[in-house]
Order: sequence, then C-alpha cells, then structure tokens
Amino acid sequence: MLADSLRQWLDAHADSLDEGPAHAHEVLPRLAQHGLFGLGVPVAEGGQGGSLGDALEAIAGVAGHSLTAGFVFWAQRAFVEYLLQSPNAALRQRWLPGLLQGTQAGATGLSNAMKYLGGIEALQVEAAPVGAAGHAGSGNADDLELRGRVPWATNLVPPGRFVVAVAASRSDGAKPFVAALPGDAAGLQRSADLDLIALRGSHTAALSIEGLQIGPADVIHADANHFLPRVRPAFMGLQLGLCIGLARASLAAASARAGAGRDVLGGPLQQQRHALELATATLHAGLSDGRFLDRPQALFRLRLELNDIVQQSLQLELHASGGRAYHRDQPLGFARRWREAAFIPIVTPSVTQLQGALAGAALATTSS
Ligand SMILES: Cc1cc2nc3c(=O)[nH]c(=O)nc-3n(C[C@H](O)[C@H](O)[C@H](O)COP(=O)(O)OP(=O)(O)OC[C@H]3O[C@@H](n4cnc5c(N)ncnc54)[C@H](O)[C@@H]3O)c2cc1C
Repeated sequence: MLADSLRQWLDAHADSLDEGPAHAHEVLPRLAQHGLFGLGVPVAEGGQGGSLGDALEAIAGVAGHSLTAGFVFWAQRAFVEYLLQSPNAALRQRWLPGLLQGTQAGATGLSNAMKYLGGIEALQVEAAPVGAAGHAGSGNADDLELRGRVPWATNLVPPGRFVVAVAASRSDGAKPFVAALPGDAAGLQRSADLDLIALRGSHTAALSIEGLQIGPADVIHADANHFLPRVRPAFMGLQLGLCIGLARASLAAASARAGAGRDVLGGPLQQQRHALELATATLHAGLSDGRFLDRPQALFRLRLELNDIVQQSLQLELHASGGRAYHRDQPLGFARRWREAAFIPIVTPSVTQLQGALAGAALATTSS
C-alpha cells in the first residue's frame, strides 16, 4: 500500500514522466523517502526486512500509477538484488547505502546477458587481462580492460551518477562474469536519452565501453553462467510487478466506466480480474518457495500469461471508455497506459524469446 502523498505525486506527474525528463530526477529520492528500495532487504544490510513479495507489491503499486516510475524502481531494486546475491561483501558495502537512500542510481544492462542465457545472443562486452591489452605493469595482475556496448539501460542518471551491471565474456577463454561499472569511470560513455515513444523520463540510454579498467573489487560474480540463472527469478519476478500494476489500474478504470448499457463487459472483466489474482498468487508462492530456480519454465509461462492479461485489460478499458478514450483532452490516462502496455511484451525476456524457449523445450521433450 503506497502512502497517499506518493500516490498523489505519481498521479500528478505520470504523464510528464512518460513524455520527457522534466521530473525524472525526482523519482529515486521520492521512492527512497518512502523506504521502498529497502523492502525485502535484510535489516542487517540496512533494509526494512520482509520478503521479495513485499518488493514485488511495491513495484506493482508504483507501476499502477506510472510505469516509468515502476520501471525505474525495478532497475534500482534489481541492482540491489544482484548485490544481495553477490559473494563480494565489499562491493555490497560500497554501493548499497546510496542505492537504498536513492542518492545513487542502479542500472541493469543485463538484457543482453539474459538473451545470452537463452542462447539467442552473444555477450556484447568483452574483457581482456590488462597485460594482454598492452598495459602491462599499469595495474594489478587481476585487472581487466573492457570494451563493447550496452544498447539499452534504464536509470542511467546523468552525469555518471549511476552504477550499471553488465555481463562480459573474456578474451582469454576464462568464464564470463558480471561486474558493476561506476557511471563516472574513464572509458564509459553514456549516449543522450534514447528517443522513445513512452517512458521518456526513465533515463534510458546506451553505453559505449572502450578501455574501461576494472578489478576484482568491481566483480558482482565471477561466473555469469552460475549467477544469471540464480538471480533470474528475482529479475523476472520483480519485473512482473509492472504487469500486475498496469493490469490492476486498467481493470479498475474499465470497471469504473463499465456502467449501464455495458453489462456485456461484466463477464470478461470478472474473468481478467480472476486470472490476474490467480497469476499474482502463483508468482508470490513461487518467489517464496524458490520453485522458479529449478523450474524456470513455470516463471516463463506466468510472464506470458501476465502479458496476455495486460493486453486484454487494456482492450476492456478501451471498450468501456469508448470515444472518450480517444480524446487527448480527457484526463483518463488511457493513452498513456496504452503506450506503457506496448513495453510489456518487448522487455527482456520478451514474449517472443519465451515463446521460443518453451517451444524449444517442448520439441526436446517430444523428440527424446
Ligand atoms: C523503455 C525501454 C527500457 C529498457 N531498459 C533496459 C534496461 O534497463 N536494461 C536492459 O538490459 N535492456 C533494456 N531495454 C531493452 C529491452 O529489455 C529489450 O532487450 C529490447 O527491447 C529487445 O531487444 P531488441 O529490440 O534489440 O531485440 P532484437 O534482438 O532485435 O529481437 C527482436 C525480438 O525478437 C526476440 N528474439 C530475437 N532472437 C530470438 C530467437 N532466436 N528466438 C526467439 N526470440 C528471439 C527478441 O527477444 C525481441 O523480442 C529497454 C527497452 C525499452 C524499450
């Protein structure tokens, strides 16, 4: 349950956050002020305690008012989760306090890594031992020099007030790893904000990496192939808060407008409400008992289901609102939700990627 003052601020600024950067810098401090980044973070680590389910509900709560703010929240909280699951305690101590206080932005450039995990893309960042890159003697024996590109990352608060998680392969054949790159590091260049159709206040940009040096102190996990599947339930599970929040908001708007003469919408609305409750309960249960670690396909199916529920809910909101939904001068929020909903199927792991993964698994079962 969000505080009234936060709900009111989100409602008043949701269009502005969708349309441009004017209020983007206010999102992190406002969410932090309400303690939202510490939900599901152990008290011993400076958080509020509680479960991942608490964080999921808070992301859903924020996303129901502004998907831009909800997605920024997800990026920040996902980065916090990487630190919590990292064996590198010093790295956690370095970044966690600022992230929880909202003075430091956490970005997750791991779409490429999640596609890599699904076998559909190579890693786009490569690390070479500093000696091999021709700088022998300039640093520690374990230092690495990175080059590559992160085509998308959200929450890249300028100028360099962010830390971004990326996965990198190694030119020497050692295991790919996951690292936290400080936004002000030499060799890291942020593009201008991408020219998006929505979520324009999310500080979403691309990164070029050339000659960026890191050491073991920056490594979140030395083995990406071990770390990524372990963190995937939290990565995806928290992301599903976006679907839940958006679907709840859209169904509530549809119900409010489905009055006399629109009785025919009652059944479908009830059906989507029921499907949403069921999927949300299954997600909470799975995050709490850890079943998605061994059975990621159950989580993939939930993601597909929740995408369908979002798209159906938006259709019902449109049907219930009629021509008013098509007016720019009506304060319904429909047009914004319509654009926000277009983000849901494409955010990694995308609907297409997961359909491919499930089809591949089904094929493997029938041919074995
Ligand atoms: C507003 C916004 C914010 C974003 N923020 C972040 C962020 O913070 N961090 C981040 O890492 N990314 C971010 N992204 C990127 C996003 O998560 C997706 O990765 C991206 O939109 C999809 O990549 P693409 O268009 O390059 O896919 P493409 O590689 O062009 O593929 C197109 C579609 O086909 C699917 N596909 C490709 N190959 C296969 C295959 N072999 N089998 C099945 N399906 C396949 C892809 O998953 C995708 O859905 C953001 C995107 C947007 C729009």
